[in-house]
This record gives sequence, C-alpha cells and structure tokens, in this order.
Amino acid sequence: MELGLAGRRALVTGAGKGIGRSTVLALHAAGAQVVAVSRTRADLESLVCECPGVEPLCVDLGDWAATERALRDVGPVDLLVNNAAVALLQPFLEITKEACDTSFEVNLRAVIQVSQVVARGLIARGVPGSIVNVSSQASQRALTNHSVYCSCKGALDMLTKVMALELGPHKIRVNAVNPTVVMTPMGQANWSDPQKAKSMLDRIPLGRFAEMENVVDTILFLLSDRSSMTTGATLPVDGGFLAT
Ligand code: NAP
Repeated sequence: MELGLAGRRALVTGAGKGIGRSTVLALHAAGAQVVAVSRTRADLESLVCECPGVEPLCVDLGDWAATERALRDVGPVDLLVNNAAVALLQPFLEITKEACDTSFEVNLRAVIQVSQVVARGLIARGVPGSIVNVSSQASQRALTNHSVYCSCKGALDMLTKVMALELGPHKIRVNAVNPTVVMTPMGQANWSDPQKAKSMLDRIPLGRFAEMENVVDTILFLLSDRSSMTTGATLPVDGGFLAT
C-alpha cells in the first residue's frame, strides 16, 4: 500500500531502540525526513550511521526544561510518534515515588510537551498533521506489578481522545496504537521468563507476541492519509488480547 509519506517531516521519540528505532527506519525508507529523539547518544550515532539523513536529537524527555531547549529550533514537523516510555514494574505495595515520577514524566508528561510543540507549529503553518501515541494493551487490562505503567498508558489513551477532540478542528489527527508484548529491549526485560510469557500467551487468541513490524505498519498507517477519517482511536495490535 502506497502511504504517501515521502517528503513529510516526522519526529519519533524513543528512537534509539526497539519500536521507535524500527519506526524511524520505516519512515526513512518511505521517503520521510525524520528527526530521531532519544536519550542515549550512542544509539543515535549508530542510527545515523545506519540511516544517513536522519536528524538526531539527544535529550532526556523526563527533563521538561531540557526538552524545551532541545525542541526550540526543531523546525516544521508534520508527523509525530510519541513512542518513548519506561516500564518500571513493582508490586503495588512497593511502588516508589521515583518510579511514579519518572514514569509519569516520560510516559505521559513528555507526550503532552512534545505534542504541544508540534501542534503549535502545525497550527501556525496552517497545515494538517498526524500524531500517533504508542500506548499498550496494558492501558485497558490490569497486569500484575504494572500499576504505574498501566495507569500511565490508561491516561495516555484518554489523552489521545482529548487531543483528538481539541486538535481535530485544526486538521490534526491523534490516535494511539496498543500493542501486546514485543520482544524489544523493554519486552525482553519484562517477558523473557518462559512461565510469565506463557501466562500472557495463553490470553492472546492468536497465541503469539507481536513482531516489531506489526506495530510499525500500524503506526505508519495511522500517520498516513490512508487513515484520514480516523482520529481519537486506540488501535490494538494485540492478537486479540483486548477482545477477551
Ligand atoms: P525500549 O526497547 O525500552 O526502547 C525505548 C526507547 O525509548 C529507548 O531508545 C529509550 O532510550 C527511549 N527512552 C526512554 N526513556 C526516555 C527518555 N526519558 N528520554 C528520551 N528517550 C527515552 O521500548 P519499546 O519496547 O521499543 O517500547 C516503545 C513503546 O512501545 C513504549 O511506549 C512502550 O510502552 C510501548 N510498548 C511496548 C511493548 C513491549 O512489549 N515492548 C508493548 C506495548 C507497548 P534509552 O534506552 O536511552 O533510555
């Protein structure tokens, strides 16, 4: 399917590893100009080597002031993928302030901040845009030790809807993708234990975790005009997990 992304300028957060990195590669291959935002400089350097032309932007999105400085001169952005997140798993009774603060700052507050910058730019230029928030199946189901993560992603789903409501009149669409487990560095850290993995796989009708390209294809579809009537949606990429 031709997505018509060539010539558009996209910004992807959490671009150093996992789903974010694969999204950058796919957008670049589709002819988009990509700004890759991430925290570890070495990841961005290897990404630029792999994909010359990608514009790296190294910043900790949990730091509001640093993010503001980093994005001040980012230039026009048509397409935004809010993908950066942390998954700090703790039993409910052992949740720390630090885990709450970091999770909220990166997984939710940075989405608001980066989206404000991009949306203000789109509105000032009077052009349409598309924003995709990378949420999770965990936004809509309780998972053991995931209190903070589930809560951030639940909030992200609702943020997606309110952004769609307020930005729709400016022709800016906002959608979420909600993947099941993907074996990225985050997925490996949390789901490598075979017994734990089986307990999740048993709840997925298709009986497997998602591949990176399953998620990336859905992100690119939602960024593209092929989904031009879709906004405020939370689209599962979960093998049916949320249907059960
Ligand atoms: P990942 O492998 O951990 O990669 C996350 C990327 O985000 C890394 O490059 C990381 O950089 C960056 N990042 C994290 N905190 C940052 C910060 N404060 N500032 C800037 N960059 C930051 O994660 P992933 O599995 O690809 O996950 C991507 C998205 O998919 C997340 O929103 C996640 O919640 C969601 N998701 C993942 C799964 C899964 O099973 N993997 C399932 C459902 C949803 P550093 O490494 O330098 O920190």
